[in-house]
Amino acid sequence: MKKMSIVLVGLLSSLLVLGACSDKEKSEAGTDGKIDVVTTIAQIAEPISIIGGDHVAVESLMGPGVDPHLYKATQGDIKKLEGSDIVFYSGLNLEGNMTEAFKNIGTKKPVRGISESIPTEKLLEDDNGAIDPHVWFDIELWKIALETATEELKAFAPELADEFEANKESYFNELDALHTESLEKLTQIPEDKRVLVTAHDAFGYFGRAYNIKVVGLQGLSTEDEIGITDIDDTISILMEYKIPAVFVESSINQNSIKAVIEGAGKQGLDVKLGGELYSDAMGDAGTEEGTYIGMYKHNVNTIHKALLGEGN
Ligand SMILES: [Zn+2]
Repeated sequence: MKKMSIVLVGLLSSLLVLGACSDKEKSEAGTDGKIDVVTTIAQIAEPISIIGGDHVAVESLMGPGVDPHLYKATQGDIKKLEGSDIVFYSGLNLEGNMTEAFKNIGTKKPVRGISESIPTEKLLEDDNGAIDPHVWFDIELWKIALETATEELKAFAPELADEFEANKESYFNELDALHTESLEKLTQIPEDKRVLVTAHDAFGYFGRAYNIKVVGLQGLSTEDEIGITDIDDTISILMEYKIPAVFVESSINQNSIKAVIEGAGKQGLDVKLGGELYSDAMGDAGTEEGTYIGMYKHNVNTIHKALLGEGN
């Protein structure tokens, strides 16, 4: 009986909250009056939860430590995609194993590869002509992608367009400040020490934005093989520039980077592990690194500290 009354109080208070909602919200889709957005990576989900505010319920399929290059949609994911109102993925072949799922769901609802709206001339390519999909590491480019997502939200709920636009404007101001702050920090590193060695080629745009030479042991996708020559070539670069630190990535096995540290040590160069960077996944939800801005700051601070030789 006691339990019953608690449930009743809970129900009553939810009803009160519902009653307080404006007419606007009643016209939105979804049973809870919110627009249900499903994304692949959290780098999209978290900013969209800010831009959409109270009017959207956002869920990302890939959590912390998950590698999007290798990710395959589960049955549960397909259900979530089917139950959503809008789907945002990054695109440019980042989520290469999900193409079929996007195509199927795309016949029923808006499914948008938001990075694919970035003008081609702003994108980087590898030696084989493959486009680099890690565009979230160039704030200017990521703003273009988030703008595309915002336009999609506005088209879905035109009555909320002004609100989405205002949220986006204030979030973009924060992103601009983040870029200025990052530039200021990273340019403190002497130019000949600005070499970023990581497990795979996720930091090409980041390197371009902040004038840092980037070396990835694996190519643009983690599906590429790592060869012994890649490790040897990387050690040569470290020796040449006397680079103090290399970095592991939260979504990638650490063995190849450890092999580099060991190999450099055998040749007399003491290379430290500079720390863990977030590349293709963000930190735990509810922590600072679980936000796009927090994850970005973590990377900038980690690189700054390690390459200035203040290692950990
Ligand atoms: Zn990647």
